[in-house]
This record gives sequence, C-alpha cells and structure tokens, in this order.
Amino acid sequence: MEDLRLSKNFHLNEFIKSSTAERMGIDNSPATTEHLINLSVLAHAILQPVREEFGIIRINSGYRSPALNKAVGGSKTSQHCNGEAADFESTKISNPDLAKWISENLIFDQLILEFYDGKDPNSGWVHCSYKKDDTNRGSILTALRVNGKTQYKKGLLP
Ligand SMILES: [Zn+2]
Repeated sequence: MEDLRLSKNFHLNEFIKSSTAERMGIDNSPATTEHLINLSVLAHAILQPVREEFGIIRINSGYRSPALNKAVGGSKTSQHCNGEAADFESTKISNPDLAKWISENLIFDQLILEFYDGKDPNSGWVHCSYKKDDTNRGSILTALRVNGKTQYKKGLLP
C-alpha cells in the first residue's frame, strides 16, 4: 500500500513519511479510503503541476493521523488530517517564489507561506491545501513566528 502511486511522480509513502511518527512509533497510515482519495486529488491538483514546473519537490509533511497531528502540535482542524494539505519545498526556487507561482497558476483552498524569515530563501516551507468538492477558497496567508507565537497575515509577505 505504501508504494501506491497517487500521480505521475508522487507516491503515497512521500505523503505519510514522518520522522516524528517513526521516532514515537505512531501509525501514520491513512485511516479511510476518503483520505487516500483526498491525497490523490491533492497530488494531481497541486504537487504534480509544481513538480512539472520546478522538478523534484520535497514533501515535509502530508497526511497526519490524529495521533501524529497531536504529537506535532497541529491545529485540531488541520487539513493535513484529511489528506487535503501538504507542506513542501523545492531545491530550485525559494519558498516565497514557489508560493507566488502557486498563487498565480493553480486553484487551491489555502496557500500559506510558513515561517519564511525574509532572508534565507530556504527558510520555512509552503503549505497548500486542495478540496475535491469545488469549495476551494483561494485563501492566501503568511505565517510568522513573533515572540514564539504564530501570527497569520493576509497575502504573501514580503
Ligand atoms: Zn501544513
């Protein structure tokens, strides 16, 4: 099951691999077929077009089982838990430029440039979600860490 191909260049194992899950012995297999379908839709709508534009993409976090989400301190309503979101980055393009390209070229539910420090092009990552039911909001945010707390601002900064 782990080698299930979700799109031309993406396999399930890339979306469920987690060093935290491995370290803590957490089972991070998708709980339902619905989750697998969501991951496949996400791979087709977001990851595959990004891969075709920029080459190899590293997925830092895709699906999160409830136990893993709790372990990493994720939001209770995290779209990662539905297989609707992934955090990723490219070796060819900076995170702000990657987020900008997605915002201009793809349909998405929520795009967040997360924890980019404004200097190091590889700092942070891009979070993007996609919903298969045509309710994609096209919401764009930047997440910043200010005094140890996460703040969300509208749009892509800077
Ligand atoms: Zn995320």
